Amino acid sequence: MKNTSIVLLFNLLLSFSACGQSEKPSESKTNNKFEVVKTEEEWKAQLSPLEYDVLRNEGTERAFTGKYVDWKKAGTFTCNACKNPLFESKTKFKSGTGWPSFYDYIKGNVIEKEDNTYGWNRIEVECSKCGSHLGHVFNDGPEPTGLRYCINSVSLDFMEEE
Ligand SMILES: [Zn+2]
Repeated sequence: MKNTSIVLLFNLLLSFSACGQSEKPSESKTNNKFEVVKTEEEWKAQLSPLEYDVLRNEGTERAFTGKYVDWKKAGTFTCNACKNPLFESKTKFKSGTGWPSFYDYIKGNVIEKEDNTYGWNRIEVECSKCGSHLGHVFNDGPEPTGLRYCINSVSLDFMEEE
């Protein structure tokens, strides 16, 4: 009897370690494929709690609460985490959604990624330099692209044109 339980226990331990080995490496945002890489502690020290939630945890600010929803100045919107230039003010349009909306981005500075969170099939947009979450892109935007980049105000900073 005693021997049997030892064998069982041994098998159990073996199967646990086998499971551990077969795990895929986790796809953490803190990998080093981006030019700007910081630890979670460094991001938390740099960003406000809301900025951290949106930029680093793919959160969403409440509609019509963001600073840039009705913003009309001419200039460039940059990443609020790393200052990478992302959107030109001339591509901003009034979407009525409650979030700043653009029909195009500055080439090379935004990356698009499939997002199946909550079973929705959406395309997430991220800063190409630091991987921070900006918002999502939808195909109901105006000409010439027909795209609507729906971006959180807290993900953005602004550089006014001289
Ligand atoms: Zn960035």
